[in-house]
Amino acid sequence: MTTTLSYRLPQKRNLVTELPGPQSTALAKRRQAAVPAAIGSSAPVYAADCDGGIIVDVDGNSLIDLGSGIAVTTVGACNPAVAEAVAAQAHHFTHTCFMVTPYEGYVAVAEKLNALTPGDFEKRTGLFNSGAEAVENAVKIARLATGRNGIVAFDHAYHGRTNLTMALTAKTMPYKHNFGPFAPEVYRMPMSYPFRDSFGVDGVSAAQQAISMIDKQIAADSVAAVIIEPIQGEGGFIVPAPGFLPTLADWCHDNGVVFIADEVQAGFCRTGSWFACEHENVVPDLITMAKGIAGGMPLAAVTGRADLMDAVHVGGLGGTYGGNPVACAAALAALDQMTELDLAGRAKHIGDIITEKLTATAESLGAQNPIGEIRGRGGMIAVELVTPGTIEPDANRAKSAAAYAFSKGVIALTCGTYGNILRLLPPLVIDDDLLNEALDILGDAIAAG
Ligand SMILES: *Cc1c(COP(=O)(O)O)cnc(C)c1O
Repeated sequence: MTTTLSYRLPQKRNLVTELPGPQSTALAKRRQAAVPAAIGSSAPVYAADCDGGIIVDVDGNSLIDLGSGIAVTTVGACNPAVAEAVAAQAHHFTHTCFMVTPYEGYVAVAEKLNALTPGDFEKRTGLFNSGAEAVENAVKIARLATGRNGIVAFDHAYHGRTNLTMALTAKTMPYKHNFGPFAPEVYRMPMSYPFRDSFGVDGVSAAQQAISMIDKQIAADSVAAVIIEPIQGEGGFIVPAPGFLPTLADWCHDNGVVFIADEVQAGFCRTGSWFACEHENVVPDLITMAKGIAGGMPLAAVTGRADLMDAVHVGGLGGTYGGNPVACAAALAALDQMTELDLAGRAKHIGDIITEKLTATAESLGAQNPIGEIRGRGGMIAVELVTPGTIEPDANRAKSAAAYAFSKGVIALTCGTYGNILRLLPPLVIDDDLLNEALDILGDAIAAG
């Protein structure tokens, strides 16, 4: 790597108390009396300062961050260019509402996303607040533009927690359980999951099966959109077999169905390219984005074909805070940083380090190896844990490995339909030595069971 990264905080893991320490424990007590238990935290130390790959807690412990606040702080949680842009904008105005008095930052973000996203046709971009809101808006646009109702989503999908996006999300516990009734006209199809499905690496046949089910259960002319994560996030970092995405996209194109790529988690250099759909040269009609877009500030976007986006009547889309000027300033700075620091290149480099290290861990464990598969792209790598010698999911192992890593000061998240996956999403500005140290600990954590 030629880019040199610089940091404000020492990039060193350092534990000065047990985790969580006394200050975090005191805050947990206050929280318990003030915040609903329904809102959980996977690494219950309270943050005081963050930089690069380090989170310093209120007790002075420095932990290694392998989660980036769920794929958000790609450019770091205190990227100086982002921090300066936020401060500068906040000193002028924090809000006017784009639907009342517009401002340049919004337009500049839209121009930038129109240029960065795949497809050399004319595009438009609308800005919103969260990934779920972007997905809701993409569905609204697709339904209006096609005059159809049906929406196709996939097994293991995660698209958010609002009513419509809960309907699109596959997993009931914890996301949907007893929160219904859900939005109608959502149809779920089998996802290509090479580690588990009978099609294996034959993505074309897996897609043909899904297409045949769509034809039989809904009929193409009733389908407004197919929505899919090019690499699934919460569902387990499932990378569909080669051919699955292009076959679906071609079918959509031939049948007047809007192909929506939900890039909320996989977008913005995370997988080693600007967007994950680019790895198979898939050009979506609409792309939903959020998470990594603005260096930690809440912002989301829908970018897509101008004819679809402009089909909506004036006033049909919007929201009070959508495209907030401070968030737009942060996004412009974050997107520049991604180019300047070559974070797509760093994502690939990080992916190589992680894969090499964890492959060595798997090999060293011989017949006791619980790693069923290491998969993903770039800085989005999953370790699927199973009972050794089988593909039986081992959720307890994932849970205990994450807990062990946390006790040593490494924040690693779990995910997956079966809860048996460790997912690694480090900030793309993490230092190599720090990443290697975290992976050594994670290897011990996996071995410890
Ligand atoms: C996180 C996520 C969402 C929801 O985003 P929020 O900002 O939490 O509403 C939607 N789609 C995908 C793929 C996600 O990972």
